[in-house]
Amino acid sequence: MEIRNFCIIAHIDHGKSTLADRMIEMTGTLPKREMKEQLLDMMDLERERGITIKLTPVRMLWKRRRTHSTGSEEPVQLNLIDTPGHTDFRYEVSRSLAACEGAILLVDASQGIQAQTLAVLTMATSHNLTIIPVLNKIDLPAADPERVEEEVVKLLGCPREDILRISAKEGRGVEEVLEAVVERVPRPRQMENGEREMQNASDTRALIFDAVMDTYRGAVAYVRVMEGTFRKGQKVMLLGTKAEAEILDLGHFAPKYVSDSELTEGEIGYIVTGEKDVRRVRTGDTVASTKDLKPLPGYKEVQPMVFAGLYPSEADDYPQLREALEKLALNDASLKFEPERNAALGNGFRCGFLGLLHMDIVQERLEREHNCDLVITAPSVLYEVQLGVRRPAEVVRSSILKKDEPDTARISNPADFPDPSYIKEVREPWVRLEIVCRAQDIGAAMTLVGDRRGIYLSLEYLDAERALLHFEVPLQAIVLDFFDLLKSATSGYGSMSYEPAGYRAGDLVKLQILLLGESADALSTIVHRSEAHHVGAIVCKKLKEVLPKQQFQVPIQASIGAKIVARETLPAFRKDVTGYLYGGDVTRKRKLLEKQKKGKKRMKQMGKVTLTQEAFLAVLKR
Ligand code: GDP
Ligand code: MG
Repeated sequence: MEIRNFCIIAHIDHGKSTLADRMIEMTGTLPKREMKEQLLDMMDLERERGITIKLTPVRMLWKRRRTHSTGSEEPVQLNLIDTPGHTDFRYEVSRSLAACEGAILLVDASQGIQAQTLAVLTMATSHNLTIIPVLNKIDLPAADPERVEEEVVKLLGCPREDILRISAKEGRGVEEVLEAVVERVPRPRQMENGEREMQNASDTRALIFDAVMDTYRGAVAYVRVMEGTFRKGQKVMLLGTKAEAEILDLGHFAPKYVSDSELTEGEIGYIVTGEKDVRRVRTGDTVASTKDLKPLPGYKEVQPMVFAGLYPSEADDYPQLREALEKLALNDASLKFEPERNAALGNGFRCGFLGLLHMDIVQERLEREHNCDLVITAPSVLYEVQLGVRRPAEVVRSSILKKDEPDTARISNPADFPDPSYIKEVREPWVRLEIVCRAQDIGAAMTLVGDRRGIYLSLEYLDAERALLHFEVPLQAIVLDFFDLLKSATSGYGSMSYEPAGYRAGDLVKLQILLLGESADALSTIVHRSEAHHVGAIVCKKLKEVLPKQQFQVPIQASIGAKIVARETLPAFRKDVTGYLYGGDVTRKRKLLEKQKKGKKRMKQMGKVTLTQEAFLAVLKR
């Protein structure tokens, strides 16, 4: 059977999931009664927020209506992988791309090319995928297909006739898209002669591009078969983790699991091995018929951009949190974590995320899918701190020293920051930032980046009304709330994306928070010296608002080293919460106490002061 593997890439909200719905409908992959909107967004969280977080594969059989070049009446097997649009989930996108030969580049005809359209397109072309440009939402009165077509031609250098116009919502033009996939996307690439490992007919290899833990079946690996044929009952090896397994079940996605008797070269499907140990099934690993075969080239490890401490509200829940993180990491290969101990917070994990939305989603998934109750500390980027020659050995833990530069520590936790007298230089991560906005918002965007220590590089026009701006900026300055600011500065029209641009020295200091005169390390942050006073004042004020009142007054101070830069005082608390409930029903009183007890969760005792989750987040947004 003819096979085509493709994905849909686009800026967030340009209609990927809607187009996938239409394709599933038109190919009759699901009966009408089982269709619902955004079918491939299977997680509750995705449906509630209206965003795609996970890649989702689906196989469709397309019966072609016209005469065609393949010269056969047989339906074509189309394997589609729906992907997220937000940059925080770009690792999901890159893995989907590696499993496909073609990509539909979807552009909202009322919006035009956006920053993340450019980012995902760069990724797709670097994987040598065939790009099919498609303008979506032509049903909208605000759609301007002529102008957007111009942008696409300029971007791709393709002829105008190659660009399709559709309304994914109404289904208009979607058939032509399916036809274009069959006509333009190449057949699954064969392994090059040099890469081919097959010595005898039974040799098989597949790349794991995703995995999920199933309560009943153990780990389920999502695979792209690269050579040979896998069958039920076959013994296989996971080459990276050296785990042996038997294929208990295999099949394809429709989009639910559909069992088949075999999976052959070029196909996308799933393999159930019954493996219960989550650490033995890894994204990027190779499933092979014997251990003598070479592993397929996997994926580049992703580097987390933002780090935060995750702690269980109750110390006893630590083992449960570890298990939850392990399971989640199987399904979210960009999540990194390692154990961490904090004097005030106890045992927890230092976790690395691709961005704040990613962090937010991880926290929610841990709470919903794994029933964890968490306290999460203020996020930070990863700094490189070069230490002076004269320093006591215990100034930093040896485990955070760089292997190739033993006098430099990699620090993401402000609590680990050594005393300034031992520091020779602090380096912070910079990023190349791209902003797409209307011509009239260029000034606002430039001011915004300038205020964040950014450097303007260049400007190009996508068309008469819209510009693409290039900057360099410290990651720390944009990672927390920059996107919201950009949106409001550009009346919602601006979009952004960024990628790492290496480390640079900066005048960075640790802003400490003192409660009752004692350092609350879990609340400290790293800031640029020039903004320390300003940030210190805001944080103290915010903490005063969100910290629960204690039986006594609590001075809240911000300091750099020994120097106090800001101060507030939290007044003492007076009332008994149940005081106003005189007489009446005792259950009311109990209910209120229960409620108060519940509210106690997500709290941590810091010496004499109780910290709430809000306190940790107060140091976050400025
Ligand atoms: P994704 O983020 O790229 O997956 O985008 P979605 O498929 O979730 O679509 C985002 C929004 O655009 C949803 O509210 C869709 O209903 C809407 N949408 C998608 N395609 C069309 C279209 O062709 N016309 C109109 N008017 N709206 C569309
Ligand atoms: Mg989507």
